[in-house]
Amino acid sequence: MAAHIGHMSVVPNSELCPCGNRGCFKAYGSGTAFTKRARACAIVSEETTFGKSGSPVHSRDVFAAGRSGDVLANRLIDEEAEILGWGFVSLVQIFSRDVVIMGGGLSHEFDRLRPGIQDYIARWAMPAFKDLTVVRAALGQNSGLVGAAALAFLADRPQESASALAARR
Ligand SMILES: [Zn+2]
Repeated sequence: MAAHIGHMSVVPNSELCPCGNRGCFKAYGSGTAFTKRARACAIVSEETTFGKSGSPVHSRDVFAAGRSGDVLANRLIDEEAEILGWGFVSLVQIFSRDVVIMGGGLSHEFDRLRPGIQDYIARWAMPAFKDLTVVRAALGQNSGLVGAAALAFLADRPQESASALAARR
């Protein structure tokens, strides 16, 4: 159960996280959180083009609106990139890596988010970490699922790495 980094509290007493705590990183930097913010903003915004049909807003609707020039959609997307940037900066300052691999639902829109993420890293990471590169996970939205399955396959072979197992197949 180690390394539930999404559940580090980053904004105390704020957004409720599905884990029951408030202010977890996951309550800000995730597709679910992004969609929740977009729905709340769309209700009160008269200028936005998404969320006006009566059907629930999904993150893909916000990105589509952003590509069409919707100001609110682009603001929400830029904010999400910044949130992901601050999460990745915190991670690299703990784990000291050269690359962060981004999976999950929002990774479908990685090309749109990446510049904002990299801008945040360039601005706020400690000097030694400003060259951090963020790439999209090859397995995209299924990264977590495949990783969990790999753990189950490797549970009875703890000394064998996932790459060694994959190479044998
Ligand atoms: Zn949480």
